[in-house]
Amino acid sequence: MTTALIKNLGRHVGETVTVQGWLYNFRSSGKISFLIVRDGTGLVQGVLVKKEVGDELFALAATLTQESSLKVTGVVREEPRAVGGYELTLTGLEIVSIAEEYPITHKEHGVEFLAERRHLWLRTPKQTAVIRIRSEIEQAFRDFFYQRDFVLADAPVITPAACEGTTTLFEIDYHGDKAFLSQSGQLYNEATAAALGRVYCFGPTFRAEKSKTRRHLMEFWMIEAEMAYFDIDDNMRLQEEMVHYVIQRVLERCRQELKTLERDVAKLEAIKLPFPRISYTDAVELLKKAGEDFSWGDDFGAPHETVIGNNFDAPVFVHRYPTAIKAFYMKPDPNDPNVVLGADLLAPEGYGEIIGGGQRIDDLTLLEQRLAEHKLPSEAFEWYLDLRRYGSVPHSGFGLGIERTVAWLCGLDHIRETIPFPRMLHKLYP
Ligand code: ATP
Ligand code: MN
Repeated sequence: MTTALIKNLGRHVGETVTVQGWLYNFRSSGKISFLIVRDGTGLVQGVLVKKEVGDELFALAATLTQESSLKVTGVVREEPRAVGGYELTLTGLEIVSIAEEYPITHKEHGVEFLAERRHLWLRTPKQTAVIRIRSEIEQAFRDFFYQRDFVLADAPVITPAACEGTTTLFEIDYHGDKAFLSQSGQLYNEATAAALGRVYCFGPTFRAEKSKTRRHLMEFWMIEAEMAYFDIDDNMRLQEEMVHYVIQRVLERCRQELKTLERDVAKLEAIKLPFPRISYTDAVELLKKAGEDFSWGDDFGAPHETVIGNNFDAPVFVHRYPTAIKAFYMKPDPNDPNVVLGADLLAPEGYGEIIGGGQRIDDLTLLEQRLAEHKLPSEAFEWYLDLRRYGSVPHSGFGLGIERTVAWLCGLDHIRETIPFPRMLHKLYP
């Protein structure tokens, strides 16, 4: 007997196959029953005709409860009106486990209720669509870097020093010493870039964010790349090609999932290369024209990013931020040391910043000076300073948050649905 995945049923029209899954829904007229079965790859309708299968099997099916696990066997038929476009004319049914009364019914439930039952909520079509798109996005990033000769060089999760300030660090006890969960792999990427040329890391990062927003998690996954001999322009070019590539992959391979999510794909299809670029100073002018109360030197909040982003149909790079609001390692613009050669990428449709990046200081003396200005302990950064002592080169890199990218591409209004088990302020269960 052939077992088949629901998404591949089109390859088996006319054949008898077995689908292994769970009961999603059931209805019966007394003579004919419809079993909607899910297996993680899709939904299929199984049709059970009493006259054909006999009283015993027909009665057995009636004992099934929502989410009972089962194996159904039947002939695959094309049926445009059925969910997924195929139907199984059932000849056999094996019950694996009868489920207790399932808490998530086909009615509407509140988000609080669902979040408490995230482990079960994940079984619903919209949630599986999001996680499938996330998986495609992660694979697309890896493929992009692989095609461009980048080396995956994983950064540590436990770190001795804070990369940017200590207020959002999770502290841990490291055999009696203080250590922190990583907020970014960047500094380590700079070391591996000097060893390997072009590198990226992809792993979880941790930030004890003190406020509740729809775009901050305590634990999120970041793609971080670092390139030797890249300046700010090389850096932006690589990022736009990468983001464009990932969008195309999702459009190409996740049509069904995007449809399930009712995503307006025209907005994604319209995104062309190159992405627009605007300086921080010009962005401030944009904000003022839009009536925002904002002065040069302030950092953008989410509403500001939305206003800026709304001026463009594609993601937009905002570059050359004030030196004072950016991290210690950002390279000043030689033409204007009040700004740095950093650029953030803001997604359209109000999704805000998805990438933070920039060119790094490559001069030893300047870097030492910045560490002192930021009151960072230079002992902890000796290894990092070594990278400027031994063969320093111009280099640049960036970090992209996976969850914000997933939220944007899926058209979700909250980041909590972009990861199987979100870690949020005061929310650690399940
Ligand atoms: P924001 O100002 O929005 O908090 P940030 O300036 O702290 O962002 P970076 O330190 O530049 O962000 O981090 C790089 C990327 O990581 C961001 O562009 C974003 O995509 C993602 N990111 C940052 N913080 C979070 C978070 N708490 N949850 C999810 N993603 C995050
Ligand atoms: Mn932040």
